[in-house]
Amino acid sequence: MSIQVGRQLSPRLLLNSCPLCGASRTRPIFECDKFGVDWELHVCDDCGLHMTVPCPNDSQLAEMYSGDYHRELRIPGATERIFGQKFRRYANWIQRFCPPGRALDIGCSTGLLVRMLRDRGFDAEGLEMNSSSAAWGAEQYGVKVKNATLRDGLFEESSFQLVVMADVLEHTVTPLMYLGMVRRILRPGGYMFVSFPDVASLESRYWLCLSRMTGKAWLWRNSHIPGHIWEFTRSVAERMFRQAGFEVIAFRRSQPEPEVDLSLVGLLALPTQLLRMPGINRLCGTQMEFLIRLVD
Ligand SMILES: [Zn+2]
Repeated sequence: MSIQVGRQLSPRLLLNSCPLCGASRTRPIFECDKFGVDWELHVCDDCGLHMTVPCPNDSQLAEMYSGDYHRELRIPGATERIFGQKFRRYANWIQRFCPPGRALDIGCSTGLLVRMLRDRGFDAEGLEMNSSSAAWGAEQYGVKVKNATLRDGLFEESSFQLVVMADVLEHTVTPLMYLGMVRRILRPGGYMFVSFPDVASLESRYWLCLSRMTGKAWLWRNSHIPGHIWEFTRSVAERMFRQAGFEVIAFRRSQPEPEVDLSLVGLLALPTQLLRMPGINRLCGTQMEFLIRLVD
């Protein structure tokens, strides 16, 4: 198996080649203007990896994730209401495959999932780069949340049974390097839970189609550039995991609960509600959930 974790999966320097498969060309398929910058979403025609160009720089990333970021979650009961059901599903699913042990939730926000893992027998802690969320969550849920990132190198090699990155990897500047750092701190045969949306899901294709028909870029509600520096499909994600030295143990999909929206956009969203039907959500849901394990 070829493991290229040292190679930076970052579009900052590699505008004319795909950092996952090495194809010589990527092409822009979408653009938007945020924070006074014109961002483009590029796709690699060979492997299907999507990337934000240019890559946000450190000050733009700090602006996105510090201060008021996730402020709406730092209210008693709010994280439970917004993410409780989803996190409970994640924790129950993880528990089916991964025996209890030391666990780390990277980018844990207010730490509710850390608490749920602890309640299921894991010796769980969290990392969160927003200092307010880290402090508030530690106090609220009585769990250990460090205001740090994995790049700070706080942990010993081979010290965790489980690492979680729930809707986080797509925000990192260098996913392959991050997966490499996770490899280092996982014990042999250790597990990782990863989730993010599928940029090629039926829902995503529906909104992209409407966006192109109307010429209104904002209608592609599944595009999250520049917050999501990367967008993945299932095959791209699995290729990336293999390249980083992991094997996929389990995969499933889900369809997020739609927000109540009585506007025209809310009406346009009605067909996507079909994706929430039992069975269809598992087959065609936008959200992808992977349980992967370190290859010995
Ligand atoms: Zn590629």
